[in-house]
Amino acid sequence: MKYEAVIGLEIHSELKTKTKIFCGCATGFGAEQNTHVCPVCLGLPGVLPVVNRRVVEFAIKAGLATNCTINKYSKFDRKNYYYPDLPKNFQTSQYDLPIAEHGYVDIDVDGEKKRIRLTRIHMEEDAGKLVHSGATIKDSASSNVDYNRTGVPLLEIVSEPDMRTAEEARAYMEKIKSILEYIDVSNCRMEQGNLRADVNVSLRPVGQKELGTRTEMKNINSFKSLVEAIDYEIERQTEVLEDGGHIIQETRTFDAAKGITLSMRSKEEAQDYRYMPEPDLPPIITTDEEIEAYRKGLPELPDARRERLETKLGLSSYDAGIITSSRAMADYFDDVLATGADAKLIANWMMGDLAKNLNAEGKTIEYSPIEAKRLGDMINLITKGTISSKIAKDVFAEMWKSKDAPEKIVKDKGLVQITDTNELDSVLDEVITANPKPVADFKSGNKKAIGALVGQVMKKTHGKANPKLVNEMLQKKLS
Ligand code: ADP
Ligand code: ZN
Ligand code: MG
Repeated sequence: MKYEAVIGLEIHSELKTKTKIFCGCATGFGAEQNTHVCPVCLGLPGVLPVVNRRVVEFAIKAGLATNCTINKYSKFDRKNYYYPDLPKNFQTSQYDLPIAEHGYVDIDVDGEKKRIRLTRIHMEEDAGKLVHSGATIKDSASSNVDYNRTGVPLLEIVSEPDMRTAEEARAYMEKIKSILEYIDVSNCRMEQGNLRADVNVSLRPVGQKELGTRTEMKNINSFKSLVEAIDYEIERQTEVLEDGGHIIQETRTFDAAKGITLSMRSKEEAQDYRYMPEPDLPPIITTDEEIEAYRKGLPELPDARRERLETKLGLSSYDAGIITSSRAMADYFDDVLATGADAKLIANWMMGDLAKNLNAEGKTIEYSPIEAKRLGDMINLITKGTISSKIAKDVFAEMWKSKDAPEKIVKDKGLVQITDTNELDSVLDEVITANPKPVADFKSGNKKAIGALVGQVMKKTHGKANPKLVNEMLQKKLS
């Protein structure tokens, strides 16, 4: 039998508010253990939470940016469970009345567009962290609890089970990440765990409508792990089914080092959590006016930006897709564009030499040694004919190492393109005398033979001649 995979994601994203969701403690990453705590986030008796309005604002923005309906009446609920990193023994979350519902985002895999529906977006608080003395809990003599992260605001973004392959899941998570970055509500640093996903995977015979039994892999925090965990799980479940077995509904962990998923516990159901309304927090009421104001305040989102780069600036769909995939890259592009540089040349340089150099040094574009303005100035030198595209590569390499303006580098190194016909004249004559064969070929009608001569001139001038001009001058001389 042929099986089809069904995948749904619950993405958790830490919001970049200065303070926690229900108290005034700082949210910063990397502080000394248990220094960002107070009676509220430690769940001490006799204290009351107060919701951080910024969190509600960020949640509504995320909802609008993903085409959700904003619930004008929304409330918090308690999700009850015990774990040492959860001092209150319940997590304040949302259950039946989340802040946003029924949205969608569009993804693009291998040129094919697909719409992935969002079930809901809700607000909740993060739990603390266990810090084991050893590498894992099993080989640790003791564990400390760090409550700095307790009460850090999270959005949980739940998708419908609309994805069919690991690549679709990856594209979906990338799209959510870029939207959150564009609207500036989360840092989305996956390596710091502030964007992570619980991944649900099931199989069903192709053609069957009903969903199969799923397993859930928790806390996947890189795109690589996401793809590997899904592919592994599809393979594992296929084998079980083909051997006539049944999939057990369970929670599994993904071991990134080994690239396999392992059974952790049988899957909990909503009723296991004894959800109940949070009595200490009033409902969140949002008016139409507020929603409209937030909608108006949204920046240009990734899809719209990609559309602009494609239709207004003439970039290929592929280039536009890559450049707008992260806000930092798209902003860099727009900053270069503001210098008046040509859009296609910007794309070529960003995806070529710039990307290559950044990758080689493990840097992201925010830390590019070549700022947008300098790249723009360099591209403008090419367009004006001051330097050839070939020489520009050397100028670029020099700019990478120094803080100098491209004009200065070109002048200091004598890289200005030779556009003076007098200066080129003698070089051309030398080349013609030294290469009788291509000259004869050209004269007898093989027009392509001129390429060899242009090449020789470029070599003699160390790439500084203007190839277009050389070509024209040679044509004149030989006819
Ligand atoms: P929870 O995992 O918290 O119990 P849900 O039942 O709402 O919550 O499902 C969570 C995620 O699992 C959603 O993204 C949903 O699309 C996905 N999902 C639900 N059923 C299946 C299934 N049979 N196969 C794959 N994904 C599923
Ligand atoms: Zn606190
Ligand atoms: Mg789940």
